[in-house]
Amino acid sequence: MDLKEKELIYRLNRDEKLSEAEYSELIKGRDEEAAVLLANLAAEKRKAVFGDAVYTRGLIEISSNCRNNCLYCGIRRDNQNAKRYRLTKEEIISCADEGYGLGFRTFVLQGGEDPYYTDDVLCGIVSAIKCGHPDCAVTLSMGERSKGSYRKLYDAGADRYLLRHETADAEHYFKLHPKEMSFENRMRCLRDLRETGYQVGCGFMVGSPFQTDETLAGDLKFIELFRPEMCGIGPFIPHHDTPFAKEKAGTVELTLFLLSVIRLILPKVLLPATTALGTVDPDGREKGILAGANVVMPNLSPKEVRKKYELYDNKICTGEESAQCSKCLEARMRSVGYRLVVDRGDAPGFK
Ligand code: SAH
Repeated sequence: MDLKEKELIYRLNRDEKLSEAEYSELIKGRDEEAAVLLANLAAEKRKAVFGDAVYTRGLIEISSNCRNNCLYCGIRRDNQNAKRYRLTKEEIISCADEGYGLGFRTFVLQGGEDPYYTDDVLCGIVSAIKCGHPDCAVTLSMGERSKGSYRKLYDAGADRYLLRHETADAEHYFKLHPKEMSFENRMRCLRDLRETGYQVGCGFMVGSPFQTDETLAGDLKFIELFRPEMCGIGPFIPHHDTPFAKEKAGTVELTLFLLSVIRLILPKVLLPATTALGTVDPDGREKGILAGANVVMPNLSPKEVRKKYELYDNKICTGEESAQCSKCLEARMRSVGYRLVVDRGDAPGFK
């Protein structure tokens, strides 16, 4: 690590903002020594805000049907080999009930953009979960919808919404998505979600095709300015039935580095150690926590459908029961000195 790199890291640690050019220098100049320093500073910051608590979210993958055709995603519309399913309201409620018994106080409903989940259907599901478990938060991750739809879902009780921006560079966005999708609409959705009152999560894949140190610097600047309550980043992993089948996966090393940088930019952010990180490295999630993450999202989907929600190849945790998944993660967190807490885990200062 040269002096310049060290100075950039310490400036971040003092809550100074870097320019986009400096963010890209920071990324380009990284080495193991820089990564260790960053991770230590990030862990200190995270400890000051959250202590040794790691929040846990029960992920319910409600549908593998999708009207979109994102070039990286295994459940894209044109993938004829994708196995399609959708969970009914009753199935989703029963996953949440089981999760409640396992100590989850946040449920994340994620899925492809499946037109079956109209506002009425999805509002009915959200309000049924909130009615059964008033002490729980519901997070939605159901893609792009209208502002009116976001408002109805919020009024039905949804607390948070995850919508990764995917990349803050319009041209890069265009290379990852079919032409009928737009960067402007993605950004519009994030603004609408914020204005509606949600705790909002953005994020991106690390090592996605055509990504550069400069586009990553743009992502960091976007995160610094948008100040999301949550931020999901994980390595891109190719899926064999997509146009990006032959592309290289993102690395653990860069993902961990960026997790630490994001923790320093936004000390209070809710930052998951993602399943994708656990897929590219068997100890990826533990390493993610040590680099500054403070959230894990074990799978609560019914075992029968887990393999079908295949966004990328070799996804982990598709053979286990929910109870096994949550026990396993609990042990993994304990092994690195952290503990999973039974708590909604809202963004500090929110509500
Ligand atoms: N339909 C919802 C949920 C998408 S899946 C939405 O549009 O927000 C959640 C995230 O998985 C995506 O935002 C994307 O960043 C990530 N993802 C999709 N395909 C992936 C792949 N091949 N490798 C790694 N992450 C992927």
